[in-house]
Amino acid sequence: MKKSRAAVGNRSGRRKQASSQEGKEKCAFGSSQAKPSAPSAGPARQQKALLQASVSPYHLFRDVAEVTALQESLLDWYDRKKRDLPWRRLVEDEVDLDRRAYAVWVAEVMLQQTQVATVINYYTRWMQKWPTLQDLASASLEEVNQLWAGLGYYSRGRWLQEGARKVVEELGGHMPRTAETLQQFLPGVGRYTAGAIASIAFGQAAGVVDGNVIRVLCRVRAIGADSSSTLVSQHLWSLAQQLVDPARPGDFNQAAMELGAIVCTPKRPLCSHCPVQNLCRARQRVSHPRKGGSQGS
Ligand code: SF4
Repeated sequence: MKKSRAAVGNRSGRRKQASSQEGKEKCAFGSSQAKPSAPSAGPARQQKALLQASVSPYHLFRDVAEVTALQESLLDWYDRKKRDLPWRRLVEDEVDLDRRAYAVWVAEVMLQQTQVATVINYYTRWMQKWPTLQDLASASLEEVNQLWAGLGYYSRGRWLQEGARKVVEELGGHMPRTAETLQQFLPGVGRYTAGAIASIAFGQAAGVVDGNVIRVLCRVRAIGADSSSTLVSQHLWSLAQQLVDPARPGDFNQAAMELGAIVCTPKRPLCSHCPVQNLCRARQRVSHPRKGGSQGS
């Protein structure tokens, strides 16, 4: 079984997902000259062709060796520097796949819109009270709301409980095993959360994009266009999928988020401590402005 660990929120507190309304990250470094506009509605194939045609190679990873170098550097850094968080410990020690998926799911839902420091206490109490899907499924909504009190966005707790009941009643207590089926089956679970659960708990090579990953990818590939636009969002998901390490997808996704949380921060990123600084176009532009600044389209 693969060793993987649960995800984290960002340092400043709130996990942002990469839906058009949630991820409005702008790159702090050089702005790309590319200003892609949102495509009109149409077949997925047309949109993909439009996406490929509109993105300069400067904003892509064309070289397999470069992808491998980024994966290795990021994972090596993560193994040495990752924060010790209760959901990571729990998932690391858990061999039952349904319990692992449940532990990741609860953490990911709590981390949406809530600071890591705040979530730790709530998560610990939640998992002590309802350590399994079955325990949560038999809880009352009143109990759930009581434990959730102060965390905000109460629909999140309700969705967790509704989802647990669905899994127990309709799937015999077994969580859906892929990002696609998790997103389809669980209430309130979007593309990011489904990918996080599938990669961390089940080892599915599904890339994920949240606010931290948006910032890292935008900087590494010098993407200055509005990340909330449909076209840029599609490009970022495509990059995340290309980069995720199939051997350790859960750890890779967490490493990318961790990098955005504690090194590639919104203000004053710690570039000299960054494991991917040699691959970062934003860093190159700052270090060699004339060389880097002439790139992009
Ligand atoms: S070198 Fe690292 S910390 Fe600096 S901008 Fe690039 S990815 Fe972010």
